[in-house]
Amino acid sequence: MTTLDTADVATGGPTLAQERRLVTSIPGPRSQELLERKAAAVASGVGHTAPIAAVAAGGGVVLDADGNSFIDLGSGIAVTSVGNAHPKVVEAVQRQAAQFTHTCFMISPYEGYVAVAEALNRLTPGDFPKKSALFNSGAEAVENAVKIARKATGRQAVVAFDHAYHGRTNLTMALTAKSMPYKSGFGPFASEVYRAPMSYPYRDGLSGPEAAARALSVIDKQVGAANLAAVIIEPIQGEGGFIVPAEGFLPAIAEWCSANGVVLIADEVQSGFARTGTMFASEQFGIVPDLVTTAKGIAGGLPLAAVTGRAEIMDAAHAGGLGGTYGGNPIACAAALASIDVFENEGMVPRARELGELMLDRLGALQAADPRVGDVRGRGAMIAIELVDPETQAPDAALAGAVARRCIGEGVIVLTCGTYGNVLRFLPPLSIGDALLHEGLDVVAAALAAEVTA
Ligand SMILES: *Cc1c(COP(=O)(O)O)cnc(C)c1O
Repeated sequence: MTTLDTADVATGGPTLAQERRLVTSIPGPRSQELLERKAAAVASGVGHTAPIAAVAAGGGVVLDADGNSFIDLGSGIAVTSVGNAHPKVVEAVQRQAAQFTHTCFMISPYEGYVAVAEALNRLTPGDFPKKSALFNSGAEAVENAVKIARKATGRQAVVAFDHAYHGRTNLTMALTAKSMPYKSGFGPFASEVYRAPMSYPYRDGLSGPEAAARALSVIDKQVGAANLAAVIIEPIQGEGGFIVPAEGFLPAIAEWCSANGVVLIADEVQSGFARTGTMFASEQFGIVPDLVTTAKGIAGGLPLAAVTGRAEIMDAAHAGGLGGTYGGNPIACAAALASIDVFENEGMVPRARELGELMLDRLGALQAADPRVGDVRGRGAMIAIELVDPETQAPDAALAGAVARRCIGEGVIVLTCGTYGNVLRFLPPLSIGDALLHEGLDVVAAALAAEVTA
């Protein structure tokens, strides 16, 4: 049994050399060694995208154990938005770890948790009194938002949408749309979950109001407002393919919820915290959700999640009905407070918009030159391209997978997504420099060109 020697590896954070550098083939020998140990020791169900052993990361790069430096266009799935090992986050984590690591907030409360709740209440959409509760993962936040909505309304049904992704726990598997790999063989699923058609402008050609009328008709007829506790929706869908609903779709859904006493839950686990060029994506669609779920980008990589929303709804659950041993862990809260400081005071929101313009520009040019790029969409630093058969617009998952693999082999971490698996998504850390992002997109363009469709 060997241990990777990482003592000679540079500390992560923004001082890491900001470059793409390949010194071995991918995976290199040390990465290969770890992957062999992984295959032997870790359950096969836990997959990986990039066949590397990560040892440091920061700015816009991830370093592996063989000394290869990758341009990071994934941020560990929209998590390290402030940048990996951001100095303010590192300092806050070190300070808190030396002070205390856990008391359990339900045993002995501490200030960090309360300060995160105050910040969330201030930053999320809506100028009404709000409250928050903290959890460990996005899925756990979604589960609790549903619990709260049920208690507040006295109703049971929940509506989620086509292409939705809300997590991998039992209730959130039921809410998630895609069977393979998220649900297949893992049932039975939680009951009283219903699915409505989503607005998907590239594929349904419907205006926002038309798509909303279609969804609301299904909800009315198959569920009935009187039975419905909550409608949960990602303002921009994440795993489902970065689908941006047509203009007017979300406001129509929000209006109907409000008129029918249905709790509107915006799942901003992926789209929240400056990612889309506003602090929350809901702001760009003119909706004010009753409850918002957050996680991923909230704490610079530490596990933390939250439900935030109207105080009277949040307070519906009885004392002891919400919580968890680790929810709002003090180190995660310290990291969140440091991250929120960075989001607010280091220009992260305008930076996400700049990165978005750069990516839309480059990917728009790619689309103009290559008919296999069927759609370019997204907001801010949450941008995707949908790869298709140029004749039929049929999804081309094989092409998306091949391009992503080729990019990784060339030193650029690119993620895929989409119900049909044919979407390449770009989620760079907001700390990436323009030059590095351009270079990453050069590699994507070259990889696409190199994959000649038969
Ligand atoms: C990732 C994600 C989740 C689940 O979060 P976990 O922390 O992985 O449990 C829920 N909703 C959305 C929109 C997500 O992107």
